[in-house]
Amino acid sequence: MLAVDLGGTNLRAAAVSEDGKLTHRKGVPTGAGDGPEAVAGRIAGLLEEVAAAAGLDAAAAAGVAVPGPVDPRSGEVAFTPNLPGWRDFQLGEALRAGTARAVRFGNDGNCAALGEARFGVGAGARDLVYLALGTGVGGGVISGGRLVEGVGGLAGELGHVVVALDGPRCTCGSVGCLETFAAGWAIARDATTVAATADGAALRRHAADGAITATIVAAAAAEGDPAALAILERAGRALGAAIGAFVNIFNPELVVVGGGVATLGDALLGPARRALPSHAFPVQRAATRLERSALGDDTALYGAAALALAEVR
Ligand SMILES: [Zn+2]
Repeated sequence: MLAVDLGGTNLRAAAVSEDGKLTHRKGVPTGAGDGPEAVAGRIAGLLEEVAAAAGLDAAAAAGVAVPGPVDPRSGEVAFTPNLPGWRDFQLGEALRAGTARAVRFGNDGNCAALGEARFGVGAGARDLVYLALGTGVGGGVISGGRLVEGVGGLAGELGHVVVALDGPRCTCGSVGCLETFAAGWAIARDATTVAATADGAALRRHAADGAITATIVAAAAAEGDPAALAILERAGRALGAAIGAFVNIFNPELVVVGGGVATLGDALLGPARRALPSHAFPVQRAATRLERSALGDDTALYGAAALALAEVR
């Protein structure tokens, strides 16, 4: 199998064995400024280069993880915030100019769910919820061994479940979404507010260049700074409320939390675990484990490989 992780900055590809070994990795800058056609050409070129290096013939299928809503079969990308000019772009069609192999597509959150269910901490799980906490919040759901795709392949926008009806305005236009509490930008927003007060001394000290980010909050929290811990407590409680909803709806055996913000660890996940009993039925909760992803930066790449297999076995 072949896997491609299309990111806003980097384009990465690898060959993947059935047992989940990534080999013949290659990465190039996405060069998003050159426009979608040029990026499609780069993806096809990279696929063929990796295939040749790994000795894979034209029958080897490929999976491509896209940072936005995409039709799994046609590869039509509705839009993506990280790639300028990608609106209703026919990625599948554009790739056919450079590669003849079968290609399946998925948004990066859905791909990550597939990757976790096949190769990650959820290996073998047939009912799994994956939450990607990063700049935004995405995710994916595996139910009965299959990815929940929805009618247009657009299911799994778990970051936009509403956890507070009167909460902050979200990037999606709604209010009080999980993302407005637990995304990198939301944690940075809360920290910027606190940094302007007397309680924000530790945050200001860590922000040498003045930019208050989630990473600054993590550094201050690691020192036990009460203001930073309070920010993460709030984000974690929102996370616990959302996970409670997913546990009730999907009855998963495993909820996996990944993405850059998940590396905040117990400062974030502790409050989430403590909040969970208030939001999930006891029987479903008892059947669910909550774990951090162990696939790191390669989650979407593994997921793209799992896509190439078409379904979780
Ligand atoms: Zn939203």
